[in-house]
Amino acid sequence: MVVGGSIGAVRTVQGLRREGYGGRIRLLTEELVEPYDRPPLSKQYLAGSRSLDQFTLLTQEAAGDLDVEMVLGARAVGIDPDWDVVQLADGSRISYEHLVVATGSSPRVTPWDTVEGVLSLRDLQDADQLRRALDGASSIAVVGAGFVGAEVAATARGLGLDVTMIDPLPHPMARVLGGALADRFIELHQDRGANLLLSTRVESIQRDASGIQLSLSDSTVLTCDVVVIGIGTVPNTGWLSGAGLDLVNGVACDARGRATDVAGIYAVGDAARWLDPHDGVQRRHEHWTNAVEQAAVVAKVIVHGDAPEHRPRPYVWSDQYDWQIQVLGDPARGELIDVIENEPVISDGAAPRPRFAAVYGASDGNVVGAVIVSWPRATLTLRRSLASTTTTADATTSVQALTAR
Ligand SMILES: Cc1cc2nc3c(=O)[nH]c(=O)nc-3n(C[C@H](O)[C@H](O)[C@H](O)COP(=O)(O)OP(=O)(O)OC[C@H]3O[C@@H](n4cnc5c(N)ncnc54)[C@H](O)[C@@H]3O)c2cc1C
Repeated sequence: MVVGGSIGAVRTVQGLRREGYGGRIRLLTEELVEPYDRPPLSKQYLAGSRSLDQFTLLTQEAAGDLDVEMVLGARAVGIDPDWDVVQLADGSRISYEHLVVATGSSPRVTPWDTVEGVLSLRDLQDADQLRRALDGASSIAVVGAGFVGAEVAATARGLGLDVTMIDPLPHPMARVLGGALADRFIELHQDRGANLLLSTRVESIQRDASGIQLSLSDSTVLTCDVVVIGIGTVPNTGWLSGAGLDLVNGVACDARGRATDVAGIYAVGDAARWLDPHDGVQRRHEHWTNAVEQAAVVAKVIVHGDAPEHRPRPYVWSDQYDWQIQVLGDPARGELIDVIENEPVISDGAAPRPRFAAVYGASDGNVVGAVIVSWPRATLTLRRSLASTTTTADATTSVQALTAR
């Protein structure tokens, strides 16, 4: 049984069949729509340039072809690991032999009062609500300059709104990128007309006839029509409490996705905290490729009884304005060594846009991460560098060689 209705769950059931699983497979999701992908929600779907059918992950028909029973509107509320049973919100109890937890994460609860027009963005309903709100709005404040916040800011600017992005940290997307390249991304947003209030906290949020008021730590008050809060997520594991699992920041798993405390239970994606064999630390990753890779490993483990341990090499992408940003490895853990600039991208009618790759090194001189903007060949090269142990000098030389061609 796979509980969850997005990329982690879908890739698990597909992986199980691909690996030759011949038993019954159920996919239970609380959502009332067929599983869909989340990345477009802050980008093309919010902008109105992509429709749901273009990013649906598994239709009922495709599930039928895989011989997967997909149940929509089925919210798991508990498990009884002694009896290998999942309890659903409608009171039914469903037994399992293997249980894969793919319930993802939800926006962190905000510390501010609940105010009409203050939204978050995690699922299709949120995206629809935000689209409707943006339709009649002229200004938006985005609280939290992480990836999703920065994407919403960029999309809202594209729709012509006045945008202010607020974050207590001095750099946007700081948790993943660190601070070294911050100026490039600050400039990007400012050049496109967004107002960035960094090192600034939101003290309170209220609403009156003129709009929503955010009182800020610099004693100013910002008034706007819509507010989107993007201050991080928490794993959806509450329904597993009391089952003997370690649920501190995700279901604790070994490096093959097996829950460390209860046999027969696995977890993938945003809800999981897998052991990283590189350093023996359990980490929860919140990005798409991670869910895909973990699902493939768990499918193998269930079907074959074992699989090589997963050695994560994080890969995150983000589209902001016309910049395609790709993040490899863990730049925030290293030091910025070099930024290799390529010729700008020139496309019809648009202003030239930069193309560069930044290489980050660990204290041992090897590459630990990279940030690449609008330069796919550099991404491929640096992915290879990160997959083997490569010095920052060699990685930089390989990327520089691409500029000469
Ligand atoms: C707006 C947005 C944009 C993003 N953009 C990018 C991007 O550009 N690049 C990138 O790498 N990553 C991006 N991400 C992150 C990426 O989408 C997630 O890492 C990925 O969706 C995680 O997949 P998942 O299946 O683990 O969990 P989720 O996608 O969170 O799905 C969990 C599913 O389980 C269901 N569920 C939860 N609880 C229960 C329950 N008790 N019973 C039954 N069903 C339940 C949920 O309704 C949902 O369908 C983005 C995320 C968001 C929200």
